[in-house]
Amino acid sequence: MPSTLVESVPSGGAHETDVIIIGAGPVGLFAVFELGLLGIKAHVIDILEHPGGQCIELYPEKPILDIPAIKSISGEDLTRQLLDQIKPFGATYHLNEMAISVEKTPANKWCVKTDMDTSIEAPVICIAAGGGSFQPKKPPITGVDAYEDQSVFYAVRQRDKFKGKNILIAGGGDSALDWTLNLQPIASKLSLIHRREEFRGAPDSIEKMRALQAAGDIDVYTAQIKSLSGDNGQITGVNVETKDGDASTIECDTLLAFYGLTMKLGPIADFGLNFTENRVAVDTEKFETSAPGIFCIGDMAHYPGKLKLILSGFHEAALMAHGAFHYVFPDKKLKFQHTTSSKDLQSTIAGQ
Ligand SMILES: Cc1cc2nc3c(=O)[nH]c(=O)nc-3n(C[C@H](O)[C@H](O)[C@H](O)COP(=O)(O)OP(=O)(O)OC[C@H]3O[C@@H](n4cnc5c(N)ncnc54)[C@H](O)[C@@H]3O)c2cc1C
Repeated sequence: MPSTLVESVPSGGAHETDVIIIGAGPVGLFAVFELGLLGIKAHVIDILEHPGGQCIELYPEKPILDIPAIKSISGEDLTRQLLDQIKPFGATYHLNEMAISVEKTPANKWCVKTDMDTSIEAPVICIAAGGGSFQPKKPPITGVDAYEDQSVFYAVRQRDKFKGKNILIAGGGDSALDWTLNLQPIASKLSLIHRREEFRGAPDSIEKMRALQAAGDIDVYTAQIKSLSGDNGQITGVNVETKDGDASTIECDTLLAFYGLTMKLGPIADFGLNFTENRVAVDTEKFETSAPGIFCIGDMAHYPGKLKLILSGFHEAALMAHGAFHYVFPDKKLKFQHTTSSKDLQSTIAGQ
């Protein structure tokens, strides 16, 4: 998992744009390109800390064999190439933020709010939320709820919040390793716990983590978390047990548990749109939803014959952009052009 692929703007504040794209998966990213060709600016929101959606989160190294004209490409490389392709259009990214509500403004625009107090206004929303928002799996620890968001966390939204903390990171994958490497320099003490000796993350991250362990900069435990000690939402220690049954307590004031992610429809269910089979119902001409000016493309969209494929989402992005044009520029006529023959499009794509 790449730690950063694009710069995200700081959370909070009010923004205005032409189109708000909810979801930075492959389809949301390609929507930036199709909108950009028509001179339409976009802000992109994703709950994850990096773009790429399922491609990055679920299968970064698997070869995808059905992207037209590309014989084989990994999920990570597809994301990198999409980001490279859309760079000239200068989208603004709000990563690590979940779109939680949509409302109409007095000026007849849409306003999307996030769980990090960001609000964005635009005449058009494009939902490209795939299978829904990726949300952390909760660790199976009795009573963990009482400590959540106070001293137990499942994601790092603001790194500085963990400065000077005595942190225990739980998990054996890329997130656990990445945050071990990232937080160790600012933590007062950092330990890592995984139920097996072997870690599943990128070899380079494992190597760097082992180097910190060898230098005595972190402690690494092979054990399972059994319970938490603490009071009033503040943990004081994590009680663990090895596979041989040896029990002990790791003293810490912060637990960061990375036990993987699940996809949930999330707040989009409450956006007031029509749903079919748990997905947003759209027309197949513009991929517009039951709310005028709100479009939906990619895996989240439902219409007869829909295939959950990246190439279908790319097609939907092109038609959505044409539909969005009329809301963004109500007085302009849309002139269809090929990138091969339009000097304007060529110079836009070249970033001139
Ligand atoms: C193992 C596996 C293998 C696959 N192989 C192929 C293949 O070979 N070829 C192929 O074409 N397809 C394949 N697919 C399917 C393909 O990955 C999906 O069709 C594609 O990712 C859909 O793209 P998307 O942009 O619509 O959604 P996603 O990739 O799901 O991205 C949606 C993004 O929206 C974000 N989001 C959702 N709700 C919110 C919210 N409220 N606020 C903020 N962000 C939100 C999510 O965090 C996510 O990042 C595969 C899927 C899997 C799981």
